Amino acid sequence: MSDHSNCIFCGIVRGDIPAVRVYEDEHTAAFMDVQPASPGHTLVIPKAHAANLFEISAADLVATTLTTQRMARLVQKALAPDGIRIMQTNGAAAGQTVFHYHVHIIPMQDGQRLGAHGRERADPEVLKALAAKIQNALRP
Ligand code: AMP
Ligand code: ZN
Repeated sequence: MSDHSNCIFCGIVRGDIPAVRVYEDEHTAAFMDVQPASPGHTLVIPKAHAANLFEISAADLVATTLTTQRMARLVQKALAPDGIRIMQTNGAAAGQTVFHYHVHIIPMQDGQRLGAHGRERADPEVLKALAAKIQNALRP
């Protein structure tokens, strides 16, 4: 396994680095992307460090995929986008910038360009409001 002493997402799992959290269970966590490609852009990660798809354990891959489906359903219910793009990068050449496995959930609107990341950091209050809306969708 690669060195992950300075991993940002491990820092978020430990609670050392702030994040606008949406969901957490024993093996996975979900939080708002700080530089969203669109409003509601959410990241899902395994709690255990793995750099990419090649490193992640089968159990964590399954857990992360199930949390991704769960979060995508919540985002769909809360924000009603026209579509949802699921994206996952492996290696800098593929656009990976954080080397802890993560899945992007990107709400898409008709006609929206397929950008991977936003260019600007979002207002934390806006992210908190979106996270609350997504969490509220957990209610029946
Ligand atoms: P990738 O380019 O696939 O590695 O995606 C990494 C994503 O993590 C980017 O969309 C970043 O905006 C996002 N990101 C980086 N640092 C943080 C952080 N501290 N909290 C939330 N999202 C982050
Ligand atoms: Zn990590």
